[in-house]
Amino acid sequence: MPERPAGGAEAEDAVPSPGRVYLVGAGPGDPGLLTARALELIAQADTILYDRLIPAQALDGARVDAELLYVGKEGGGEAVPQEQTQALLVARAGEGKQVVRLKGGDPFVFGRGGEEALALREAGILYEVVPGVTAGVAAAAYAGIPVTHRGVASAVALVTGHEDPDKPETALDWPALAAFPGTLVFYMGIRQLPNIAESLIAAGRPASEPAAVVERGTLPAQRTVTATLATIARQASGAGVKPPSITVVGPVAELAGEMAWRSPGPLSGRTVAVTRARAQASGLARRLGELGASVIEAPTIRIKSLPGDPLDPSLYDLLCLTSPNGVGYLFERLHAGGRDARALAHARVAAIGPGTARALREHGVVADVVPERFVAEALVEALSELPVKHALVARAKEARDVLPDALRARGAEVDVLALYETVAEPLSARALAGARAADYITFTSSSTVRFFLQAVGENPALSPSTRIVSIGPVTSETLREHGIEPHVEAESHDIEGVLDALVTDALTSSPCVTDTHE
Ligand code: SAH
Repeated sequence: MPERPAGGAEAEDAVPSPGRVYLVGAGPGDPGLLTARALELIAQADTILYDRLIPAQALDGARVDAELLYVGKEGGGEAVPQEQTQALLVARAGEGKQVVRLKGGDPFVFGRGGEEALALREAGILYEVVPGVTAGVAAAAYAGIPVTHRGVASAVALVTGHEDPDKPETALDWPALAAFPGTLVFYMGIRQLPNIAESLIAAGRPASEPAAVVERGTLPAQRTVTATLATIARQASGAGVKPPSITVVGPVAELAGEMAWRSPGPLSGRTVAVTRARAQASGLARRLGELGASVIEAPTIRIKSLPGDPLDPSLYDLLCLTSPNGVGYLFERLHAGGRDARALAHARVAAIGPGTARALREHGVVADVVPERFVAEALVEALSELPVKHALVARAKEARDVLPDALRARGAEVDVLALYETVAEPLSARALAGARAADYITFTSSSTVRFFLQAVGENPALSPSTRIVSIGPVTSETLREHGIEPHVEAESHDIEGVLDALVTDALTSSPCVTDTHE
């Protein structure tokens, strides 16, 4: 690459880059259906204005300093008025910001993206449109319904079902829709489904025509109801179908029977609340989603690093790490002193479990000791054969002293280095309500228990059918100290163990446990 002329970058910096708005589709819900361009823009944005129906993980890759503004509807209530959203887009871009306007599905399919583009054009703001995978096509596909099919449907119409039958000016042309030679896909139509079906039949669409409703398409909790046009509204309401759902009308709807390809995961239909820190929750949430669960993120703790001097590990012949967080912060302290993994070459390194060992490997260090059970007692046992003179136990500020005490009892000199502390994270009312009604609440450490109970108050008022899941005996003991008996305890005290325990429990317990309600 040719070198830039000296001062080129400075000259460039001097001219403020113009703000720009990206009208981005986030797809129908499965994070795998976010486009590469959407992910790239989310990662770069200064400001992101987002709607309710975007994938839960869509903002994971946003910059930590990005401004995230929710402009969607809250639980079916009033949305932020469209004019206000447009004014915000114009204002932020006017300040020179790179603004992502993130919408479910495709921005130009019932997404009001067109109105926003016009408002931006009028305000002289540059914009770009990033199409997304639209729900009408994707939810159908995930249910095994091709919206067009050779010899069966050679056209498809995307139709809004959100018409107010009392307002003649917004009424759909039912005769034209009934006569449409192909598949009809209705968006936003689940509440109007009885009207839609009746109007289509009255206008001449056969009552026997296949129809399907796909609820929460592409999400772990996806459900499909198939029937005929005459019976679909009753079937869907009987099944308790709620928005977001699309309705497919046409012979292709019947193909769902043969073509459905998504097998429900072992946790499908279950809601699982995750109480661990947001920074660590995403891995667990993703795995739960893959198993079919609907995840409620209810982080009750946050990890905060503690200030301290750069670390010189040359004194120690043993380093004990008790969490992946500890590994991260230990290396920060090493780097602060201009050192790297080579500074640990002379010492033995012990990790409490596979997660910690994995974090070490990411820093180029293979742990010498990893116990079979992932608790301090097991680490003590695993270290019993190792001669130790001077050990460093790098860990959280508040932790049990089992390991340092045991090493001292063996005559070793032990320094405990508190690298981080766990602090409370305020729980939103929404997360709390979700957790209270969840099928499972997972606790992955004693501090998640303590801070959760602190957030909910002494009477947690959990649903009687909520099952409490604990990562291991220490966490279970903390639950019992607070009068809560865990229903499930992981055999292996790590995230994989929690997932295994959940799946086993879900397979042996019915999704709606009613016996405790009597
Ligand atoms: N721009 C979006 C549509 C927004 S209108 C798109 O292109 O998909 C909102 C409607 O989209 C919902 O009422 C529902 O009909 C449909 N929808 C969105 N996400 C959905 C999903 N995961 N499953 C089924 N329908 C969905």
